[in-house]
Order: sequence, then structure tokens, then C-alpha cells
Amino acid sequence: MSPIDSGREGVDSMLTDNGRAVEVIGRHVCIGPSRPTCVRTQLGRGDNTRSLEAIHEGLAHAVKRFRPGSERTSGRGAVTAGKVTHVAEDVFAVRLGRGPLASNVYLVGSGEDWVLVDTGWAGNHMAIREAAASVFGPTKPPAAILLTHIHPDHSGSAGELARDWQVPVFAHADEVPMAAGKYLPEYSMPLDRWIVDPILRLLPAGTRARIEAGNDITDVVQALPANGEVPGLPDWHVVPAPGHTPGHVAYLRRRDRVVICGDAVLTVDVNSVIGVLAGRERLCGPPWYTTWDRQTARESIAALAALHPRILAPGHGPARGVENAALQALARDG
Ligand SMILES: [Zn+2]
Ligand SMILES: [Zn+2]
Repeated sequence: MSPIDSGREGVDSMLTDNGRAVEVIGRHVCIGPSRPTCVRTQLGRGDNTRSLEAIHEGLAHAVKRFRPGSERTSGRGAVTAGKVTHVAEDVFAVRLGRGPLASNVYLVGSGEDWVLVDTGWAGNHMAIREAAASVFGPTKPPAAILLTHIHPDHSGSAGELARDWQVPVFAHADEVPMAAGKYLPEYSMPLDRWIVDPILRLLPAGTRARIEAGNDITDVVQALPANGEVPGLPDWHVVPAPGHTPGHVAYLRRRDRVVICGDAVLTVDVNSVIGVLAGRERLCGPPWYTTWDRQTARESIAALAALHPRILAPGHGPARGVENAALQALARDG
């Protein structure tokens, strides 16, 4: 391997023999042909301050673990190792599922801790655990699980993971009533009103109760602090982004304006048939058919635009940089 100048403070870089770029950012080793994506090694605290030679062994281990052929390039230069994509310092996206039902969760490091933001669908817990183990090691549970909102594609595995890891799940106070998994008319959206609730009403009471009990995460969910602080992430802030659901939130890291925005803004078209079928990537408001209040959702997009995000990390579609004018136009017309 040969050292190269990354041009960024605190980032060590080198090229492997086969021309891959390798970076060490904090405790993460990142490998890729252009903009490296992270594969975690077992480097200990302070390794990032060692010389490149001293961490050569750790890098070699990471290169060995990074299986050629497991990478995909999105067309914007982001590189994925397995399911995990490095989207910003200490922020890793995990895409779960395929096609229109795919959803993202985020693994976010801060100091010695990390948190999980959103949990995908029910049954995604093993994939999330594997992805987390590849980034933070197999024995370190998160400090907390944070939800952007309570919908089955974001909170589906929250109960399973929280009970397993013995960690709390946080959602906005206005979202907590949805944790019981019951149909709440005042919280409902078109899909609930037109399809889900009518079907549930056709089922025997016992079956309906079993389904609701399976979605109940009231035993693990608690309200986010009202002061905007994010449990487990002292350098992040809660940004209320209601509309898609009553207590939807985004999470903002101010120093580099990374925004994990759930379904408040997406980067894949979910509001046209062709967009859904083709998986067309474009800046898009929340899916109207699962949105509680569309006008409030538009106001939240405007509020997010006012933060001038540098990277949007949505619940669906790839994390990416965004033109603020495009975000403002979406708030106006979306
Ligand atoms: Zn949603
Ligand atoms: Zn969603």
C-alpha cells in the first residue's frame, strides 16, 4: 500500500496494490475506487492518530474482508460494501429490501457510542444486527434506537432489536400513541382509511387483536427529550418534521448539516406509478397515500430547506447532496 494525501484533517489515506483507495476516518477503515465506503476493522481507540505503517495490519484485514464483487456504485460515486454505505463521517446507511418496499436505516457513531436510526420492516432485525456488527463490532449494542416516525417500514423491527439489545427506543412525544399498533382515526392516513382498517374490520376480533399486539412496542418506546437533544448523539439535534405522521422528526448534525429525514423528504419517486415501478430517483415529498397531513408535510419540507442540508439521508432512496432551491421548490409544489 502507498500513502496518499487525503487533504482532510484527521483522515489517513492510502492506495492498495490493486488501486483501491483506503481511508481511515476515526476508527473506520474505508475502501473504494473513488469515494471510499467504510468497512470497520478492529482498530482501537486512538488508532487514527498512529502512522499509516502502524495500522497497516488493520487495513490489510479490512481489505481481506472487503469481498470484490460485493460493491455497487450508485452513479453518483457512492460505493456500497455489502449492505452498508458510508454517507458521511460516522454515518452509515443500510438499505433493507428491494424495489418500492426497500427502506433505509442508519448507523450513527458519536464518540465511543453509536445509535440506530429507524429499524426497517418486521423481520429486518438480523440484517440490521449483521450490518451493525460489520461497522461497530459484534459485541457493542447501540446506546439507543431512534425513530423518525412509527410506520411499519421504519419501526417494524424496533421491538425485536430493543428487547434483544436491552436499549430504549425514542420517538417524538406526538408519535408515541402510535406505538400501541392500533388504528387511531385521528392519526390515520389514506391507506389506513381505505384499505388497512376496512380489512382489519373484516377479521375476527381475536385475529385483529393478535395483529395489533404483534405491532405493539409500547414496552420499549419513550418520548424524545423536549429540549431537542438526541439520546446517544450529543452532536445531533431533533428537528420536528410533522405531516407525514403527527410526530415525525428529522435528526440534524449541525457541523456538517447532515440530515436524517425519514419520510419527510425522499430521493426516490414514490408519488407516481412509473416512479414506483421504475424506482426512479428524484427529490420527492412523502408518499401522499401514507401521509397524515400533506400541507403540514410541505411546511416541514420548507423547515428542512431552511437548515440548508448538505446531505439528506432519507428513509427511501440514496443519501445524497441536495440543491437548496430544489428543496424549496418541493416545499412549494410537492
Ligand atoms: Zn412513513
Ligand atoms: Zn417509509
